[in-house]
Amino acid sequence: MNLPLVSLKDERTKVQVKNTIFGGNEVILMGGPCAVESEAQMAEAAKGVKAAGGQVLRGGVFKPRTSPYSFQGLGEEGLDYLVKAAAEYDLLTITEVVDKTSLELLADQVDILQIGSRNMQNFELLKWVGKLRKPVVLKRGLSATIEEWLSSAEYILAGGNSQVILCERGIRTYEPSTRNTLDLSAVGLMKELTHLPIIVDPSHAAGRRDLIAPLAKGAIAGGADGLLIEMHPHPEAAKSDGDQSLTPNEFEQLSAELVPIAKAIGRRLVRPSSLETLNDLQLLRNRMDEIDRDIAELLAQRMKTAQEIAKCKLKSKDAQKTEKVI
Ligand code: PEP
Ligand code: MN
Repeated sequence: MNLPLVSLKDERTKVQVKNTIFGGNEVILMGGPCAVESEAQMAEAAKGVKAAGGQVLRGGVFKPRTSPYSFQGLGEEGLDYLVKAAAEYDLLTITEVVDKTSLELLADQVDILQIGSRNMQNFELLKWVGKLRKPVVLKRGLSATIEEWLSSAEYILAGGNSQVILCERGIRTYEPSTRNTLDLSAVGLMKELTHLPIIVDPSHAAGRRDLIAPLAKGAIAGGADGLLIEMHPHPEAAKSDGDQSLTPNEFEQLSAELVPIAKAIGRRLVRPSSLETLNDLQLLRNRMDEIDRDIAELLAQRMKTAQEIAKCKLKSKDAQKTEKVI
């Protein structure tokens, strides 16, 4: 296939987003929930990303779901939560764009656009994104070959947008034990075939929490320029992809374990020196948010108990009436 723009050239492309560089020496960590669900959820997620030394907060606001009955995302309301949480912790933002309307809404508000697997061959969308001068993470299609994937990247470059980051997120195989099969050879192959940076999303590859850490480590050891990982403050309550989401603590732990792996291959994963990276005001605000959430939870419990008391009273009155009649 004729792919002049994405094919390997002398110099590797570095995609710079503010102070973060994809394709340089540093390994970039992106985390956050599959879908933006609430302001509190995003604040906790952002705190977790920051504490782990991550640079980018993820969260889908338009969710292309396999079932029309699954949660479709909060749309514009979700975008506000994503942007606000990221700003509070000085993080970059990434979210998925699904069509021209969502692109118009997102292009000026987020730092990185994501084209999801299901849209890797949405050529009209690729052309629209190609017209922008904006970093794009292009995920590999569910069953896309390396050449088809590169060809989709070529569409974006051909439009004049050179800031493309490839993302391997697992491909469909005959193996049902994992959601997809992570094709780690794609990382090495892409280093030979193209000058574009490549990151790995172990979450959608595995579909299960227990495999995220080993796959992430393998990806970094194999030369990936970064990781896109689903992390949710309360995975058990997640509206999408909870089973494959790490908790903030697990995310932080994984980040620490990645440091020696990055070092072993001559790369760097920058960790915050300590949780003090969150300044006092942020910490106090977080504490206040936690207290507010506890109060709301207690009030809800009180209301439920009051209703139960009312029901009990009604029942005993009915019982007394019946006794009198008898
Ligand atoms: C996602 O990142 O939440 C997502 C939907 O990923 P993919 O397009 O890889 O399935
Ligand atoms: Mn997801």
